[in-house]
Amino acid sequence: MWVAGRLVSFASAVCREREVIGVSDLADWQLRALCRGNHAYLFFPPSTFERKDERERREMKAKAICGVCPVREPCSLHAISIREPFGIWGGLTEMERRALVAG
Ligand code: SF4
Repeated sequence: MWVAGRLVSFASAVCREREVIGVSDLADWQLRALCRGNHAYLFFPPSTFERKDERERREMKAKAICGVCPVREPCSLHAISIREPFGIWGGLTEMERRALVAG
């Protein structure tokens, strides 16, 4: 699926541009996601260059939101189950999810 000129998975699109997807297509937990709307930009890298310190600050802010999100568990399980390659899901970066799967 293309969102804002970038090819993203459906799951990424849900967190990134939820308003472009019909509400009836979303799982119940996705409807309660705290990252819906204005904070979505924190969960994915920008399309332009991002310095390491900028990435760390962005990820820290996103993880803080995940830390109080009521659907953190189904979110992280979903991202792991579909091997979502992009963004922060359930408070985990793509690298952290890969490490969990690798065991
Ligand atoms: S846990 Fe984080 S990424 Fe998942 S729905 Fe909540 S705020 Fe969004």
